[in-house]
Amino acid sequence: MSQYAQTPGTNIADVICDLRSDTVTRPDAGMRAVMAAAEVGDDVYGEDPAVNQLERSLAERSGMEAALFLPTGTQSNFVALLSHCGRGEEIITGRDYHIYKYEAGGASALGGIVMDPLAVAPDGGLRPEEIAAAIKDDDSHHPISRLLSMENTHNGKVVPLARLDQCISVARSAGLSAHLDGARVFNAAIALGCDLADIAGRFDTVSICLSKGLGAPVGSVLVGPEAFIAKARRWRKMVGGGMRQAGVLAAAGLYALEHNVARLAEDHARATELAETLRGLGAGAVEQNTNMVFFSPEAQDNAALGQRLAAQGIVISAGGSGAIRMVLHKDIGDDAFALLQSALKSHYA
Ligand SMILES: *Cc1c(COP(=O)(O)O)cnc(C)c1O
Repeated sequence: MSQYAQTPGTNIADVICDLRSDTVTRPDAGMRAVMAAAEVGDDVYGEDPAVNQLERSLAERSGMEAALFLPTGTQSNFVALLSHCGRGEEIITGRDYHIYKYEAGGASALGGIVMDPLAVAPDGGLRPEEIAAAIKDDDSHHPISRLLSMENTHNGKVVPLARLDQCISVARSAGLSAHLDGARVFNAAIALGCDLADIAGRFDTVSICLSKGLGAPVGSVLVGPEAFIAKARRWRKMVGGGMRQAGVLAAAGLYALEHNVARLAEDHARATELAETLRGLGAGAVEQNTNMVFFSPEAQDNAALGQRLAAQGIVISAGGSGAIRMVLHKDIGDDAFALLQSALKSHYA
């Protein structure tokens, strides 16, 4: 079962405010309309107009030569890692990063790739000196260090551009390439007030999710150099990700890029407001970055809080005893947010 699976006893139809993740966002009427109207072709033959337009659009927007549409972020990262590294080659990454911790070890299990996971620094980045120490000498005892893989945002944290530069520079000077798991890279760009290209351009390849805060039902896009994307396209076919009339999905992605990027700022603002409310209640430690709030109730009443909220149509992932992650997104509007605020106030009054 997933750590974010629903609180037992709640019916998804009764949910008014779902804070478990921004992946729960559903395609709205405008998005469904463009999906229904999408002109389609066979994307494996390169003939789907909407997929081609989406790939071109994100390549341009990220300042890269080419792009590849994939069904999920996990597959996008996986195909990127397979394209960067061969068997016995190594990725240096973060212990708490998605590619190491939440992708079922696919790169190692299926790709024969070694991962050297480093502790993630408080700002969500890695430490340049630890990267330098992790890069292996050319010695037949060692795997061949090939790739640095970072994440931005990480747990909602915007990794500062200067930190990215320091890490990438250490990697590049030892001949490694640099990949960014940019599942929520648009949240980072909005928070920094910069363009996607300002972040993406620092890396060789970037994976971007359309199905998180951007609100598309499925889809990720991998961007990078032309020759790299050609290689990734073959890997995508090999792992079964070559889709046919995928334009109905790509149309949702195009709609998301047009309508749902700038509005991420609203999610960040609501997250800030939620953090202020929780701090005001004095009920525990609160950390907030971009669209995510982590709340550790002092009373450790996670389960009781979860049940109390669930009875009012509010779902949080309160299974464990650690911090409760609350994620703001476009399907939490003013009414749902007001309900959440008043439910929290009455629980901790
Ligand atoms: C969601 C996410 C992914 C990809 O997840 P999928 O569910 O496979 O689309 C990758 N990296 C990060 C940081 C994520 O949050």
